[in-house]
Amino acid sequence: MSRFWSPIVHTLDPYVPGEQPKVLDLIKLNTNENPYPPSPLAISAMKAETGDSLRLYSDPNASELKSALADNFQLAEDQVFVGNGSDEVLAHSFQAFFQHTKPLLFPDISYSFYPVYCGLYQVEQKRIPLNDDFDIDINDFQQDNTGIIFPNPNAPTGKALPLESIKQLLAMNRDTVVIVDEAYIDFGADSAASLVNDYDNLLVVQTFSKSRSLAGLRVGFALGHCDLIGGLERVKNSFNPYPLDRIAIKGAVAAINDTAYFEATCQRIIESRDWLTEELSKLGFDSLESSANFIFTQHKKLSAKVLSQKLRDENIIVRYFDKPRIDNHLRITVGSEAECKQLVSSLKCIIESS
Ligand SMILES: *Cc1c(COP(=O)(O)O)cnc(C)c1O
Repeated sequence: MSRFWSPIVHTLDPYVPGEQPKVLDLIKLNTNENPYPPSPLAISAMKAETGDSLRLYSDPNASELKSALADNFQLAEDQVFVGNGSDEVLAHSFQAFFQHTKPLLFPDISYSFYPVYCGLYQVEQKRIPLNDDFDIDINDFQQDNTGIIFPNPNAPTGKALPLESIKQLLAMNRDTVVIVDEAYIDFGADSAASLVNDYDNLLVVQTFSKSRSLAGLRVGFALGHCDLIGGLERVKNSFNPYPLDRIAIKGAVAAINDTAYFEATCQRIIESRDWLTEELSKLGFDSLESSANFIFTQHKKLSAKVLSQKLRDENIIVRYFDKPRIDNHLRITVGSEAECKQLVSSLKCIIESS
């Protein structure tokens, strides 16, 4: 508290990121980072950019990256927006599209940054409960709104909404913007990017942080109708015209172009996820069917809170949310094959000695 804070700063309830421990010998399965390194081509492109050119500002339009993304998704460059992580892209979207007079709709169990942005941009919110199986029922979203936002696959459940349902949702909600936050789309769900040319109110947001192993680089992007992108550009150019630095632009371009590496790492994670789900089940866990790079799971006997603490004692960190409906679940990031094995053997010990 300070008397110098503006009235709105007093009311903010900021996002609390998962722990980023300083010690390195921990098995870190708490923030859904990729266990594998970024594409070697991305690393060398970034090294090559590290030098004299850093005297100069980066391209405010990041055209090289927009062009690479447009090619990748078979869209035009003016249907692509890029930002400093998808969190920034989401923030600009809240400011660009959502008004104060009607509520923004999002699932009750969802990415916890959405209510934070509602606070920052003074957007009313209405949380729509997931059903008992933790699925989104699109019919529940058929009500007056200033917009709709949800992650697909959802976080922290990992459950995917089929493209057909997204189409139905868009068909019944033509007058406000629908944002599909596809942070985890590359681990097994169908992207709504293919619908961008059919619905002028659809914005698809993706990130390089998860499937491209570049969480530390901070690059995210949005795909949508050129008028939506135009709105985002207006906000961005009223805030920070250079959200992506030169190194980030080069690294992201090389990463998006290295399809072979990308597909191989995603496949490895999918295989580990399926293996880990199976092993967890043998240990007495019930897991939701995940289309993401994490597993949302609960043990039949032991409480999630206690398990997370015991894992922590074994130097493994997973995510525990002390929130209604999900306070007996753990969200476990799918690590490397070795990390998954270590997790299973630690859990075995914990469970046997309980
Ligand atoms: C990780 C995540 C993001 C943020 O990604 P950045 O691009 O690193 O800012 C956005 N939405 C969801 C649902 C996420 O899990």
